[in-house]
Amino acid sequence: MPEYEVLVVGGGVAGLRAALAAHETGVRVALLSKTHPVRSHDSASPGGFNAALSPEDSAEHHAQDSADAGAGLCEVNALKAFCEEAAQEALCLDHLGAPFNRTSEGMLALRRLNGSRAPRAVFAADFTGHVVLHTLYEQLLKAQIPTYDEWLVTSLIVDQGQCQGVVALELRTGKLEAFAAPAVLLATGGAGRLYQRSTASRSCTGDGMSLAYRAGLRLVDMEMVQYHPLGFRAHRAFASEATLTEGALLCDTAGQPVLPPNGPFTRDSFCRVMAETNRGQGDAGCLLLDLRPLGKDVIASHFQYLHRIARDLAGVEIDHDPLPVRPLAHRLLGGVETTLDGSTALPGLFAAGECAWLGVHGANALAGNTLITSVVFGRRAGAAAAAYAQAARPTLWPESIVKDPQACVDAIFSRQAGELTVARISHELAALMDEHVGLVRDGGGLAAAAERLTALKERYARVGLRHHGKIYNAELVAFFELASLLDVAEAVIMAAQARKESRGVHQRSDFPLPNDKEWRQHTLVSHGVNGPIVETRPVNSHLSP
Ligand SMILES: Cc1cc2nc3c(=O)[nH]c(=O)nc-3n(C[C@H](O)[C@H](O)[C@H](O)COP(=O)(O)OP(=O)(O)OC[C@H]3O[C@@H](n4cnc5c(N)ncnc54)[C@H](O)[C@@H]3O)c2cc1C
Repeated sequence: MPEYEVLVVGGGVAGLRAALAAHETGVRVALLSKTHPVRSHDSASPGGFNAALSPEDSAEHHAQDSADAGAGLCEVNALKAFCEEAAQEALCLDHLGAPFNRTSEGMLALRRLNGSRAPRAVFAADFTGHVVLHTLYEQLLKAQIPTYDEWLVTSLIVDQGQCQGVVALELRTGKLEAFAAPAVLLATGGAGRLYQRSTASRSCTGDGMSLAYRAGLRLVDMEMVQYHPLGFRAHRAFASEATLTEGALLCDTAGQPVLPPNGPFTRDSFCRVMAETNRGQGDAGCLLLDLRPLGKDVIASHFQYLHRIARDLAGVEIDHDPLPVRPLAHRLLGGVETTLDGSTALPGLFAAGECAWLGVHGANALAGNTLITSVVFGRRAGAAAAAYAQAARPTLWPESIVKDPQACVDAIFSRQAGELTVARISHELAALMDEHVGLVRDGGGLAAAAERLTALKERYARVGLRHHGKIYNAELVAFFELASLLDVAEAVIMAAQARKESRGVHQRSDFPLPNDKEWRQHTLVSHGVNGPIVETRPVNSHLSP
């Protein structure tokens, strides 16, 4: 059985930054990831990330803009730590050689994203996440940190109240294996695949949230589902909001601008305007993003990736014609409850990145804050996991506490495959989330969603697989991922039912106003013996370290 001191699960920016921080302390670290690290979801982040680096800007301004966007649900301590460290981490990435855009004086170029008072986003044309991911991955190779690429973690090993390792499936061989470590760090990303109409990549199936949920931990503010306003009509692709702050116009089908140029729009208000005014009826519910005011040179230098995908996926030459856009589900703002150092309520288990909740984003993330949150808190969590592992006693659990992992796969294969397939249940789940738990919700729709979810879970318990091959069995992977999505859907629906107000990205047509008196509260969903439990807790009462 492979043994390490820190096991990082996930090879996106959070996992890579965490693994490097843990390695720097001298502990034995390994990284497991179900996709190759450079194919992680971050590679899709185009617009840039916030760091208060310009002389006119400051960490305080950055924190204030984030708090304004967060609509009363941000945790002050988390926000303060984040904004102070974001600039340091941006410079660190620059020093590691990330090829960011620069000014003619050789300084880091900064662009303003919606909701920020100053140009604050460091960027590399419109493939910023891609370069950050590659820069960190180079360091991982340099540090010779062992990586288990294409290993899907299916469960946590918990013994005597402590997390002591994981069980993982090697996709290439179909082998399930236990890994031992006194510290396990979840950096498994988000759960955007809960929705059909979403920007999320295939790997965003909420695995880490589900692993923690099944271990009895609380998921916080799961009802907060951020939509991206500039999604393509028929694809999961989207245009960065940086297009708007650089001069593009959002118009109705008659060509009339629907937002003032450079207006103070944050994503939640933006999507609300689009949904509420229903202006986009003309072109299959779309508005038109007109990039022509930018001119061909700016499009070529700053939006070259968008130029290509708009042509390939939407058949639109953005320097000649407007691009039809509509809101797409983007990411969950909720996640596993952690301290500022990534520790959770289960000793030995840490979490960082999009799967973790710290209260930085509140009820609506400031555009450009999410990627760098993964970097900042990935570093913190990696260092804290290493310190924990160094102080912990060596893992002594007998291998027998892990139920024969292979028997688990054999049991799945032994089920009868019928009409019911994993793909069908996944499809129905995503359709129900789009229909009832989307941009605007109401009590009736949420109740219907809860009922249909219960039925889907019952069907999942009976589903059989059609493919029994061991090598790259995509259906088996989807089977495990669907279990995660069902858990996460349960938490999202329960929390959305509980929050009887509209705030930030959570909009209820039956409770259209914010209710500060009763709802300056976080929702917490945990998995009890008799089903999910929903609790609330006031803002600014963070989990103690
Ligand atoms: C399309 C898109 C564009 C975005 N653009 C921006 C932007 O311009 N600026 C910005 O600040 N933010 C942006 N974001 C947000 C930002 O990209 C994410 O918040 C960030 O990628 C999260 O990083 P992460 O490391 O937590 O997760 P991810 O990058 O999703 O990485 C998760 C890793 O975990 C692995 N994994 C998952 N489950 C398992 C498992 N069971 N076993 C093993 N491994 C597992 C995956 O393979 C992957 O390697 C964007 C998000 C989206 C959806």
